[in-house]
Amino acid sequence: MNSTGSHTHAPGTAADNCLFCKIAIGKIPSRKVYEDGELLAFHDISPWAPVHFLIIPKAHIASMAQLGPEHQSLLGRMMLLAPRLALEQGCRPYPDGGYRIVTNTGAEGGQEVHHLHIHVMGGPRPWLRG
Ligand code: AMP
Ligand code: ZN
Repeated sequence: MNSTGSHTHAPGTAADNCLFCKIAIGKIPSRKVYEDGELLAFHDISPWAPVHFLIIPKAHIASMAQLGPEHQSLLGRMMLLAPRLALEQGCRPYPDGGYRIVTNTGAEGGQEVHHLHIHVMGGPRPWLRG
């Protein structure tokens, strides 16, 4: 991480020692939910809720704090994918069902893995957390 909070790799390439970059290229296995050319969704290894998966861009972006106008369509695709995958993974429909979408950003935001991801959580309550 440099002084501006960015990693020092070229944009769009895998960052060394980034867990989710390794998952994105298949170097570390994951339980895949969805994949296309620019996005990957996989089950969280330590779920808070009966349904809990993550959606990531395959390209390394450290967090929401690194986003610019060039990422508008990517973020739009992630947010539109979340409701569709949530239903496919067993969340009941709105309004009685539903799901929670969370993005932790930075240390005080509770971010542990510094590769942009959205959590999608749902299913019958109570949940383990959240
Ligand atoms: P955050 O605190 O928002 O950075 O969330 C990181 C999430 O990644 C946590 O919910 C972890 O349980 C999850 N996680 C960590 N390692 C893995 C892994 N190898 N496969 C799937 N999920 C993971
Ligand atoms: Zn990464």
